[in-house]
Amino acid sequence: MKRKSAAVDPVARARDALRARGMRWTPQRRALLEVLVEASGHVTGAELIERARQRDPETTPSTVYRTLDVLEDLGLVSHSHGHDGREEFHVWPASEHAHLACEACRATWEIEATEALAMTEALARTRGFAVNLSHLTVSGLCADCRRSADAV
Ligand SMILES: [Zn+2]
Ligand SMILES: [Zn+2]
Ligand SMILES: [Zn+2]
Repeated sequence: MKRKSAAVDPVARARDALRARGMRWTPQRRALLEVLVEASGHVTGAELIERARQRDPETTPSTVYRTLDVLEDLGLVSHSHGHDGREEFHVWPASEHAHLACEACRATWEIEATEALAMTEALARTRGFAVNLSHLTVSGLCADCRRSADAV
């Protein structure tokens, strides 16, 4: 088996980071990391627990959430909230973004920093408030759902 360099292998990177914090590299943590590497888009904590359990049945929710906390501190994972407040995790987030969440069809969309600029700049100007973009979810109705609501 060819050894991947620690710099490019995200599992090795996470392992080293957890160890540097005095956390043990357990089979459960490895299972979670493998699941995270394969995940794309937004995944809920419940989905991560279920997938990690398929690899290692001894995985507990508290292990998953504790590990996610540390990974988030390290910048390997970030979370946002769906319109029902449920946490959604992003793995190795490429860029900071906010979300739109439709309350009717439950679809979500990402808003890039440039698109949110009018909103974040206004709050910085009027309130001196720095928005945490990745934690911003705007709930409402999407264009399609508004159209079908109008049609009734
Ligand atoms: Zn949160
Ligand atoms: Zn909708
Ligand atoms: Zn997102």
